[in-house]
Amino acid sequence: KLANIGVVGMAVMGKNLALNIESRGFTVGIYNRTAAKTDEVMKDHSEKKLIPSHTIEEFVDSLEKPRRILMMVKAGKPTDAVIDELLPLLDKGDVLIDGGNTNFHDTMARNARLDKSGINFIGMGVSGGELGALQGPSLMPGGQKEAYDLVAPILEQISAKAPQDGKSCVAYIGPNGAGHYVKMIHNGIEYGDEELIDESYNIMRNVAGFSVDEMAGIFKEWNKGELDSYLIEITADILTRKDDIGDDKSKPIVDMILDRGNNKGTGKWSSEDALDIQVPQSVITEAVYARYISMMKNERVEASKQLPAPKGNVELGEKKVLIEKIRQALFFSKLMSYAQGFEQLRIASDKNDWNLKFGELAQIWRAGCIIRARFLQNITDAFDKKPDLTNLLLDDYFKDIAAKYQESVRDVVALAVKAGVPVPGFSAAITYYDSYRAEVLPANLLQAQRDYFGAHTYERTDREGNFHYPWYEEQ
Ligand code: NDP
Repeated sequence: KLANIGVVGMAVMGKNLALNIESRGFTVGIYNRTAAKTDEVMKDHSEKKLIPSHTIEEFVDSLEKPRRILMMVKAGKPTDAVIDELLPLLDKGDVLIDGGNTNFHDTMARNARLDKSGINFIGMGVSGGELGALQGPSLMPGGQKEAYDLVAPILEQISAKAPQDGKSCVAYIGPNGAGHYVKMIHNGIEYGDEELIDESYNIMRNVAGFSVDEMAGIFKEWNKGELDSYLIEITADILTRKDDIGDDKSKPIVDMILDRGNNKGTGKWSSEDALDIQVPQSVITEAVYARYISMMKNERVEASKQLPAPKGNVELGEKKVLIEKIRQALFFSKLMSYAQGFEQLRIASDKNDWNLKFGELAQIWRAGCIIRARFLQNITDAFDKKPDLTNLLLDDYFKDIAAKYQESVRDVVALAVKAGVPVPGFSAAITYYDSYRAEVLPANLLQAQRDYFGAHTYERTDREGNFHYPWYEEQ
């Protein structure tokens, strides 16, 4: 019997996806460059419908046609190495899926290259980590639509199901690099969500002086309302956990973890792209910067001894009121971050002719992935009502929340700034709101400066055309 699909790469993601696919009744061919890893999988799962191969030729021969191959290998050169090995062995109409965290520019180039040989190439974003891969990830496949149709029955079965309506968290995203692009924005949004939660924690901790236990309770409470999401849920859980290996096991583990925020670069990619296509994506970008400045631990420790904190005392007010204000500031800022992310998706979609279905994207993020959250339904609803919505902030739901919560963000940002506690995400969010709703920005003066030193010309408020002012003449 031939395998219905093959998986290349038996590290944690490939192995778990292969097991997930097998568990839905499919026979799966498996292959890994280092054969010992394939053997290990077979040792642990000998009873399963897996067909192991030790050579790539054997692997390709083990698959039914048209072949469906999912690559789960390191992004970059390793992905090209696997493609180059597979290419001579494939037939026209076969479907190659790259499920790695690949940069969408690479996916676009590979899709175009392979299309010339008649090979369908799908770049698929996979979110949910290793557990998601095993139990149901959120999948973002992009490439030829006819290729997607060939793999859709498998992808629909293995993906997560939304709790609201049981729908599969997978959909055809669009041509060439669209899937990996959407995954990149997903990851950027994830950076933003994390940063905003971390700022809320920092304010509660270092401005208001709440205990870790208290904060665990607050996040747990927040998770019952409109902030209901995976990241709030795990934050509440993290704050309840005590140290497991230190000398004092009664200490919260969060206090024992070094404050250096790592990253794998996907947040940076979405910020880079925002700069490339000229979208103000400040919340996510501040989240990237926040990780970078956190990495400068030694410098910060040194600077903390030399640079004074503000002197004044801050007025915290009633505790319950403050907690609610921080909750509102967090939700408001999250909305701004998504408004920016979806604006970026819209502009990229137009630029690349991807025809992204924005409501559907929010839909497939409702389960399986790291940013899964109750409020994603509001994004889907917004785009259902108005598919050509330019910015989420113009949707009634978003508009109302922004109007209701804006005072809280202003208060919380002012409080944090006064106390000397950094809130880059919150301040980027309120600044975006104020910039977006500003009828007039000071770019008039900017244009005058540019025209003054560089004769770059300016446009006028009262007539069409480009003008240059005689700055160097006496008036
Ligand atoms: P790794 O990213 O650690 O990649 C290891 C796999 O890549 C192994 O199978 C390895 O084979 C193979 N590989 C590396 N170099 C080559 C090469 N030159 N030629 C052939 N094969 C090579 O594994 P993960 O399972 O963590 O991730 C797989 C992909 O999924 C990555 O692109 C990752 O970014 C992405 N991803 C990961 C998530 C996660 O939570 N880990 C979530 C979503 C996506 P060998 O054993 O022979 O070295």
